[in-house]
Amino acid sequence: MRAARKDLLRAALQYRDAGLGVFPCKPGAKVPAIPAAHERDDPARLTCRGECGRQGHGLYDATTVREVIEAWWRSIPYNIGIPTGLGTFDVLDVDKKPEGNGFAALNKLIAAGLVSGASALVRTRSGGLHLRFAGTDQGCHSLPRQFIDFKSGGGYVLAPPSWVDADDKGPAGAYELLDNRAGTARLDWSQVLAVLDPKPLQRPRRPGTTRALPADGTLPPGVRRALDGPAEDRSAALHRLVGACLRAGLGDDAIHELAAGYEPAVAKYGDRLRVEVDRSMARIGAER
Ligand SMILES: [Zn+2]
Repeated sequence: MRAARKDLLRAALQYRDAGLGVFPCKPGAKVPAIPAAHERDDPARLTCRGECGRQGHGLYDATTVREVIEAWWRSIPYNIGIPTGLGTFDVLDVDKKPEGNGFAALNKLIAAGLVSGASALVRTRSGGLHLRFAGTDQGCHSLPRQFIDFKSGGGYVLAPPSWVDADDKGPAGAYELLDNRAGTARLDWSQVLAVLDPKPLQRPRRPGTTRALPADGTLPPGVRRALDGPAEDRSAALHRLVGACLRAGLGDDAIHELAAGYEPAVAKYGDRLRVEVDRSMARIGAER
């Protein structure tokens, strides 16, 4: 339900009492309510964060001054904006959109133990979640394909009981506090990335590991054993072969050449064999 002006004012003052600066956003929307202090062609529009003394700098208008807050919410049911980052909190934003949602990603983060220290849980207007953590200066980041955003320094969020009307990004709905506890844990975005967006692993290049296959066809004993070993599980067999090759000091070209002649792997992977060999090498490199 759309919050009444006096409820928004009361909430804004409660945030203020908790030491959180607030600023007004347009009723029913997520954008700042106060018109920009600087015209479009004013160079200060990009750099001024309120040093000019006027209001109209978006999240930089946020204040804990009671009289200013009371004046803002005196007659208009503004939504409540709170800047994220140092001084307030960071937010892991789990989006819910018509084309998908971030709950699968959130479950991975839960399984990895990264989000158990959240200090508050807010339901967003679309049924997504805001998880609050200790404020830091990590900046804002986004994994759009996983419907996950991270709001830290330079960003802001709407706070309960703000209400957003239906628009092209979601249905109408209120922000609602689901859970609140005294938490001081921070969320390290690099750890989130490591769980949700692992980069292809790079095998460390070690000198002296670029040996080619011997011209006379004799193979290092470990590689021979891998080639002649069990291959019921063809993926495991290929991985063992790659491991034996790396231990024997063979170079990438030699390993690819051997794998291309290893019938179980060719039968299983076909034209994806090279990719699979690279992946196997990277995995082994990462384990070392
Ligand atoms: Zn200014």
